[in-house]
Amino acid sequence: MQNAAGRPLSGVAVRFEVMEGGGWTTTADATTDAAGHAGTTWYLGPAPGSAQRLAVTLTTGGTAASFRATALPLKPDSTYLGRNSYIEFTAGSLPLVLSAPHGGTLAPAELPDRTSGETVRDENTLELARTIADTVRQRTGKRPHLVLSRISRTKLDPNRELGEAAEGNALAGIAWREWHGFLEAAREAVERAGGGLYIDLHGHGHAIGRAELGYLLSASDLALTDAQLNNATLEARSSVRALAGRTAGGLAAVLRGPYALGTLLQARGYPAIPASRSRTRPATRISRAATIPPGTAPGPAGRWMGSSWSCSDRD
Ligand SMILES: [Zn+2]
Repeated sequence: MQNAAGRPLSGVAVRFEVMEGGGWTTTADATTDAAGHAGTTWYLGPAPGSAQRLAVTLTTGGTAASFRATALPLKPDSTYLGRNSYIEFTAGSLPLVLSAPHGGTLAPAELPDRTSGETVRDENTLELARTIADTVRQRTGKRPHLVLSRISRTKLDPNRELGEAAEGNALAGIAWREWHGFLEAAREAVERAGGGLYIDLHGHGHAIGRAELGYLLSASDLALTDAQLNNATLEARSSVRALAGRTAGGLAAVLRGPYALGTLLQARGYPAIPASRSRTRPATRISRAATIPPGTAPGPAGRWMGSSWSCSDRD
């Protein structure tokens, strides 16, 4: 900011406001410094080619400036890092999104420790997500989208609503928005391809060695018969409703049919639930942790994709 004579104006309160394109800024309000500068970081909305506009207004009234931009398409194989590299996004070229929100180890002093909620790390999930992505790449020549939180869950839980996730800390809040912004960008790319699969990787803390596939259904839901499972209410509540809607055999087939993910894992020697009961005995006990408890479902990112995989989110 400067006056008519070209002198910097300090102490001027300004507000950054995204007017078009669905982006966001890391800071909404700022005050100019001695050089007349005020700044924020502007993240564009995810749709490539879409018009984006950021307005800078004086909090006393009046527009100070207006910026326009056009979002470029994601570049497959490019890695995009959020502030301080807490959140990492590698763009892919397949309709497959992998994320791991709870495997990070960074514990920067700038972020206070969270005082409530779960803080246990889902060990090896970053490594597993990277390995899956690399293996898919080797076998298909194409890469899934990969979104990783490298920050410790003691500092941020991106898989919770903002209040619980960041406990009001502005810097943790930036990382939270980056997490969801990167997932939005991946979603936008996948939707342009006609839809796809989202797998959110977690760990579990009990001693039963198996993959537990979470579909936003409870253990009692999973105990139902196939005929009982295939009803509109349960399908609508599950994270695989889109897939169930276009699968012969409906929700039950997606969960434990011959081509269900759990069944395919079991067939390759990896115990999994839910899975087909005809190939292997079902687990005699379905862990409470087998599904994401109601109310702890993924935040904004969780609403969009046809399917998610989540193990014992509370562990
Ligand atoms: Zn988790």
